[in-house]
Amino acid sequence: KLITFEGIDGAGKSTHIPFVVSLLETAGHTVVSTREPGGTELGEQLRALLLHQSMHLETEALLMFAARREHIAQVIAPALERGDWVVSDRFTDASFAYQGGGRKLALAKLEALEKWVHPDLQPDLTLLFDVPLEVARSRLDAARDPDKFEQEKADFFANTRAEYLRRAAEFPARFRVINSNRPIEEIQAELSGIVQS
Ligand code: C5P
Repeated sequence: KLITFEGIDGAGKSTHIPFVVSLLETAGHTVVSTREPGGTELGEQLRALLLHQSMHLETEALLMFAARREHIAQVIAPALERGDWVVSDRFTDASFAYQGGGRKLALAKLEALEKWVHPDLQPDLTLLFDVPLEVARSRLDAARDPDKFEQEKADFFANTRAEYLRRAAEFPARFRVINSNRPIEEIQAELSGIVQS
């Protein structure tokens, strides 16, 4: 199965990935933990370009999907074929949220890329970590060097978050929206319930 973690920067998803991986391993699954953009040698090189090089919005979307194509071919599909579980820090929902919602690339173009790159693959479960913008912002201010996306303005993140929530409503069978503005123990209890069901 494929589990994806999503949310705006500062929503806290990276805090919770190791916890979910260990829940799955305790349940006896072999887990491949990976991330986007990245996940392969080429993908990590594309990630470095995407995060620090300014470029046309469509170039950005195309490189995200190029990295994803490689990621699916080299990592995700082989793992799923072996019967392993794959936990990915971001997947195609991030392209809809960031390039579509945040930067206003036409959703139809993203849908065309999605159909091209993975017509038959969707996550089995998508955990969307959601927090108010001010909370995400204050977490980021306390953290590391900002990349170019993290320097974008507040309405960019508002639009990104809104697109994530719109997709969660559109695909309720696979999305779970986690209120991430709570103590870690409460979030972990909710995650245990979701993963064990
Ligand atoms: O999840 P992580 O913080 O590692 O993502 C790296 C950056 O890439 C984030 O700042 C995110 O805003 C950006 N990103 C993006 N579009 C995607 C995926 C990630 O703008 N499709």
